[in-house]
Amino acid sequence: MQENNHYPFPLVPLPYSYDALEPYIDARTVQIHHDHHLKTYVDNLNKALEPYPMYHSWSLEMLLCNINALPEEIQVPVHRNGGGVYNHNFYFNIMGGNHSQPKNNLLAAMENSFGSYEKFKQKFKQNALSVFGSGYSWLVMDNHANRPNGLRIMNTANQDTPMPCTVCPLLPIDVWEHAYYLKYQYKRADYIDNWFNVLNWDKIEKIYNQCISNKQ
Ligand code: MN
Repeated sequence: MQENNHYPFPLVPLPYSYDALEPYIDARTVQIHHDHHLKTYVDNLNKALEPYPMYHSWSLEMLLCNINALPEEIQVPVHRNGGGVYNHNFYFNIMGGNHSQPKNNLLAAMENSFGSYEKFKQKFKQNALSVFGSGYSWLVMDNHANRPNGLRIMNTANQDTPMPCTVCPLLPIDVWEHAYYLKYQYKRADYIDNWFNVLNWDKIEKIYNQCISNKQ
């Protein structure tokens, strides 16, 4: 998903300018979120792994999918900070669009799983509103779904990820308050409604196609 996907993990630059998501997500929120919140997770992940050279070649996905294989003393910091890096890189990567819409085989899968894009948005919003406290809502491809390459929506708490790797994540929304508080205060619903406008569905479709080819 990213270059240099091993220790020392980099602060992956935003694929767009701070103000690219205006007016839906304000530049100051994007800047603080990326340059400070994400950077803290990157720094703390590297700090936890620094004394353990045998894990310096492991990718983020390997670390997160095999957390129990790590020395006990770094399981919690790698889970929390590695999750923070994974989730934020994913979240920033799939934004930057301007009222784009899902199409092609991803739209077909969405219609098959939810009825329509509009129904998907309603269900996704409902789920994102139901996250109690801090966490994420995700659209994932479920390898075990009854429908082949079927989609489903799931929530994760705090910086948990949709691991251990039984699903292939396609998009997350960060519903920690730091993701929207400056502009939207307590109005999480308005943030979610506006966030749909900045999704980059071309990128999300590439991720979906990657999920399908990884499975085969
Ligand atoms: Mn965040």
